Amino acid sequence: MTEQYRVLLYYNYVEIEDPEQTADEHLKFCKDLGLKGRILIAKEGINGTVSGTYEQTEQYMDMMKNSPLFHDTIFKIDDHDGHAFKKMHCRPRPELVNLSLEDDIKPKELTGKYLSPKEWFEAMQAEDTIVLDARNDYEYDLGHFRGAIRPDIETFRELPEWVRDNKEMLEGKRILTYCTGGIRCEKFSGWLKREGFEDVSQLHGGIVTYGKDPEVQGELWDGQCYVFDERIAVPVNQKEHVVVGREYFDGEPCERYINCANPECNRQFLCSEENEHKYLRGCTHECRVSPRNMYVKEHELSEDEVQARLEAIGESLPTHA
Ligand SMILES: [Zn+2]
Repeated sequence: MTEQYRVLLYYNYVEIEDPEQTADEHLKFCKDLGLKGRILIAKEGINGTVSGTYEQTEQYMDMMKNSPLFHDTIFKIDDHDGHAFKKMHCRPRPELVNLSLEDDIKPKELTGKYLSPKEWFEAMQAEDTIVLDARNDYEYDLGHFRGAIRPDIETFRELPEWVRDNKEMLEGKRILTYCTGGIRCEKFSGWLKREGFEDVSQLHGGIVTYGKDPEVQGELWDGQCYVFDERIAVPVNQKEHVVVGREYFDGEPCERYINCANPECNRQFLCSEENEHKYLRGCTHECRVSPRNMYVKEHELSEDEVQARLEAIGESLPTHA
């Protein structure tokens, strides 16, 4: 029998006096347990994803339940066939979620109304409602709630500015926000309220919880959910699977994210296996012909072989004068 692994996703907005010391202690504990993952600790709380065996993750959750700081942390638990990380990191950070606000939001004091998966499912289909995706663009592109708005931004921290620029679209509407596990919306929905929007709700527990809910079973979610570990994509909708991701080169349906082979670029894009080989895993011509292209190194391609691949797509190696 192969050993059962699990991935835990969690956060807790709780005041932490000395994030550096807490991070050090927490890291030691996780390493001793044999967990792998990434945990951020800030004055405003903790945010983590860790993987380990059933035993290890149970022990970790027990420790958290007995901790005066983290005892009420809610864990989202996924089964997995191995670790979802290579290493164990636990780092102090100035904040858990960066919205680039001068006056930060404390979700425990100000946040949007929490909606259960069932309430969310009903609310998102009601009139005069706007569903706002509170994630980065590449997360939306892999999957999102049907009809949700994709703010035209690259990263989450640009969201407040986008809202101010698009105030008319949102005014007088019921605003629903969602993100992967809920941590970003706790702050973003609070900020929306401070901005003067009156009817603001958030999906409690995020997309991950919505997909596991026995009643809604992820309904009205299209595509997959982007996650920040080696799995990259996890399923949400248990009733149907509509692929919304589009292949970077040919626009065909695709849910396979890769990183550009040029380490100086490292851009993440949706790409089929076939096109990965065809385009040397490079997102642009410059990345394909970069002397540091990792694809060329990994596959030990000679200059002639590289040239042949490039010619097949109407490109060629730069000529040296
Ligand atoms: Zn690139």
